[in-house]
This record gives sequence, structure tokens and C-alpha cells, in this order.
Amino acid sequence: MKNDLINQSVDYINKSKVIVAFTGAGVSAESNIPTFRDDDGIWQKYNPQLLEINHFMANPADSWKVIKQIFYDKFANANPNDAHYAFMELERMGKLRSIITQNIDNLHQKSGSKNVIEFHGNSNKLVCTNCHQGYAIGEIDLNKDIPRCPKCFGILKPDFVFFGESIDQKIHNLAAREAQLCDLMIIVGTSGEVFPAALIPENAKFYGAKIIEINTKPSNYTNSLVDIFIEGKASRILKEIVNLYKQKYF
Ligand code: NAD
Repeated sequence: MKNDLINQSVDYINKSKVIVAFTGAGVSAESNIPTFRDDDGIWQKYNPQLLEINHFMANPADSWKVIKQIFYDKFANANPNDAHYAFMELERMGKLRSIITQNIDNLHQKSGSKNVIEFHGNSNKLVCTNCHQGYAIGEIDLNKDIPRCPKCFGILKPDFVFFGESIDQKIHNLAAREAQLCDLMIIVGTSGEVFPAALIPENAKFYGAKIIEINTKPSNYTNSLVDIFIEGKASRILKEIVNLYKQKYF
């Protein structure tokens, strides 16, 4: 059964002219970065309010303590897994136009993928909440209780989207355009619960794209807009799909 789905997915990939990937925390789960909402997810241990923008501005030291543990101690040592590498290969073979990722861990880029749209920003950069100057993380001492802007002493925050913040309009438009252009979208490891990102696959479907989904369990998309759902871990399944595509068509 799973082999049939893999064969079918490979045929879709072969027939499609514009393929876009849409990824979430599940694609990095096998790089030892926990997802948000699974049983061993980040929100089982930490209060999501710590990443809410008003809470952060009112209690920066509390939020920063946890932000450091989750996003800097853990992410800094993470490496891409076979799922990231499979997408990188598909791009190199000229079959993948872009990856729209909700992740902020930089692992698609670290695996070698070039056209990555970071819908929620990136944890590698910091931005001043006062003067908006940006910094690479290496430029700032993260051991301070509250990392501050060297120019104006404003509170620095990671340059990713916190709860209560809106998406950068340019990025939003770019992702919407990719969704409209593609004739196949491959969704991997996302629950579809974070808005407005969750609407991207709906947009692709509305404009006529076929949808393949890979997830360890059904998501909000599985029964509503997915053409092929493959249940299982992203790394093994994506690797099988890309290897079979290479064997059959490349
Ligand atoms: P989520 O936590 O809501 O859902 C994760 C999904 O991944 C679930 O559907 C789960 O079944 C699936 N999954 C878990 N392990 C998998 C595996 N090995 N293979 C395939 N699927 C697997 O995550 P989300 O939908 O991305 O939304 C959460 C938000 O949290 C996003 O905005 C994202 O920015 C952020 N986030 C990012 C990271 C990261 O950068 N790595 C980590 C946690 C959360």
C-alpha cells in the first residue's frame, strides 16, 4: 500500500511542471528539534505565552530565559536530516521550485536548498524592538538576562514572528504567489494549526494544484484537500520518493 503511494507520488512529481514544498516543525523532528504540539512537543514543557509579543515586551527576561534554551541551545547543534536533503536534491534536479517553510531553524538552507521562503522568519537573526536594527546572533552576547541593542539599548528579540505579530507583507505575498503558481504542493510535517500559514495549501488547491502530504498522523489537511497522504516519518518517505524518482526518470 505504502509502495503504491510512493509510486503514485513519483508519477505526480514527474508530470508536474511547478512543484512547491510547504514544511512545518515535523520536517525537523528527526533532527532532534521538538515540534510544538506533539506529545513530546515544546508546549508540553513551556508556556506558549512566553512567545506572545506583549508578554515578551512586559517580561523580556522571563521570555529570553526560555527562548535561549529552546531556540539557541537546541537549534545551534541541530543538523539537517534526510528529509531536508531530499528536498535539496529535488531542487538540484530542477524539479522543486521553492520551499515555503514555517520553520525558523535554518535547516533547509543548511542542507543546501537555495530557494527557501521563511514564512515566520529565522532564529539566526535578532532585531531591536526600538530602532529595528538587525544583528546576526554571533554579534550579540546571549548570556545576558536581556540581550540589548548596542546602538540604542533597546530590547532585542529573535527575528521570527511571535504570537500576536503579523507576517512580513513581502513574504506573505511571495508565498501566496508560489502557492498560486504551483501545480503540485508537497506538504510535510505540519499540523495546519498556525494561521495565516495554514492557508497556503488551501490557496494552492484553490488554484488547481495536486497535494501530496507526508505526516506521522493525519492533519487538518488530510481529509479536506490532500490527493495522496503518506503516513510516516518525513526522512524515510521523502528519501524513498526522491530515490525512486531518480531511478525512474532522471
Ligand atoms: P506543529 O508542532 O503544530 O505540528 C507538527 C506536525 O509534524 C504534526 O502534524 C506532526 O504529526 C508532524 N510530525 C512530527 N514528527 C514528524 C516526522 N518525523 N515526520 C513527519 N511529520 C512529523 O508544527 P507546525 O505545523 O510547523 O506549526 C508550528 C509552528 O511552530 C510553526 O509556525 C513553526 O514556525 C514553529 N516551530 C518551528 C520549529 C522549527 O523551526 N524546527 C519547531 C517547532 C515549532
